Amino acid sequence: MSDLVERFTAIVGPQGLVSDAAAVQALATDWRKRYAGAPLAVLKPATVEEVSAILRLATETRTAIVPQGGNTGLCGGATPDTSGQQVIVNLSRMRRVSNVDAIGNTISVEAGCTLAEVQRAAEEVDRLFPLSLASEGSCEIGGNLSTNAGGVHVLRYGTMRDLVLGLQVVLPSGEIWDGLRGLRKDNTGYDLKQLFIGAEGTLGIITAAVLKLFPKPKTKAIALAAFDTPQEALALLAHVQSTCGDRLTAFELMSAPCLALVRKHFAQIPPPFERSYSQYALIELSDCAQGDLDEMLQDALGDALDGGLIRDAVLADSLRQASDLWALRENISEAQAAEGKNIKHDISLPVASIADFIRDTDAELKRAYPHVRMVVFGHLGDGNLHYNVSAPEGVANGDFLREQPIINRIVHDAVHRFGGSISAEHGLGQYKREEILRYKSAVEMELMRTLKRSLDPLGIMNPGKVL
Ligand code: FAD
Ligand code: ZN
Repeated sequence: MSDLVERFTAIVGPQGLVSDAAAVQALATDWRKRYAGAPLAVLKPATVEEVSAILRLATETRTAIVPQGGNTGLCGGATPDTSGQQVIVNLSRMRRVSNVDAIGNTISVEAGCTLAEVQRAAEEVDRLFPLSLASEGSCEIGGNLSTNAGGVHVLRYGTMRDLVLGLQVVLPSGEIWDGLRGLRKDNTGYDLKQLFIGAEGTLGIITAAVLKLFPKPKTKAIALAAFDTPQEALALLAHVQSTCGDRLTAFELMSAPCLALVRKHFAQIPPPFERSYSQYALIELSDCAQGDLDEMLQDALGDALDGGLIRDAVLADSLRQASDLWALRENISEAQAAEGKNIKHDISLPVASIADFIRDTDAELKRAYPHVRMVVFGHLGDGNLHYNVSAPEGVANGDFLREQPIINRIVHDAVHRFGGSISAEHGLGQYKREEILRYKSAVEMELMRTLKRSLDPLGIMNPGKVL
């Protein structure tokens, strides 16, 4: 063990140093297995004081730090480089829920709590923590904050940024900023917490947060609608919004290849319809008041069917069927991973232009690469598509991945033309760090660099990510 690793280990104790080689390798590899780093050490501190001491030592020795939560990020943000010099600081041991306030509707948690643990703690007091992602069993609050995670309920409750009242952050110097306030109103200058949300670990380490809770919905209705085009999806979204109002909690678009992939790799999930259609939308309504949401959704879909907007629909009539319908949506990423590597784009667009974007960009891609499979799904109500391009049937993934720079150029230039963003909810990490330079203005990039320099003058926080 090097002297430096010994000094870090003295801070966290032997139980805070990951020494098993396979465990180190797993934590040094990202979820998509696109990046594999070689860290100097992987530390798992147990308290904020330990995190502070780690960063003091890192500042003294100019050691680069890679913060890490559940390691489910999709842009390589939590993966170190291969220099053997960077230290992963994994927060997974810091998982205390310190306060659940059902009157103020707040919950105070450490950064290493998984999202699912926070959801459960809220449920125990009959409240809802609404952030919901397919990775919720493993991703952690610190990671959710640092990526400003989105997921399937943004339509109603907003992204992680909208769900935070206060943060505790350890700065690169080791100083602790205690901003753990649960206030709904606080206009005392700059809103510092917002700097760290979405910063992907480049400005400091988030160690705890006060989050917002909501009344827990008492009733839900879930349906899957089938139709021909994304244009119809937009019309259906508008129709459901105007008839069901803010009871609409999720509106998820899925193209036919998404369902085919899920059915291939998760054959136990029953097919929703006897035949397949080209597009689907998973729709969820929820309400705190008692009332017949099934009837409301059924009426909305009945109108859509009569008006020729959709071709078919199925309304879940049991919890089992509801969870089967959700499983079709939630297993798309896993099914894609099982199928092999693909070229992912997590993009944001003005909602109304989504159909035109898909039409134009699909056509452009198919001109350049006939037979590519468009695995397109996403949070239509938020204007967020996971616009993923898979190799044509029979083409080796490795060969296809070589086309990534050209495909990214086609897709991201189109996003830019339509006034969108090349990262909606996954961040930049190392995956899109270079790409963003093409689309953000020089003024915006320089403002980001100014903030980075003032908070992390030595550049030890997650170098090589975002900027
Ligand atoms: P990590 O992957 O460990 O880290 C992510 C970034 O945050 C890194 O840059 C890391 O350095 C930084 N970081 C982590 N913890 C801290 C901390 N305490 N302080 C400072 N920086 C920190 N994302 C969505 O937004 N919506 C989805 O619907 C969604 N679905 C997904 C489905 C699947 C199957 C998978 C695998 C991922 C999905 N994701 C989704 C992506 C991912 O789960 C989120 O980005 C999540 O917020 C990452 O949390 P994590 O704890 O795993 O973070
Ligand atoms: Zn998503």
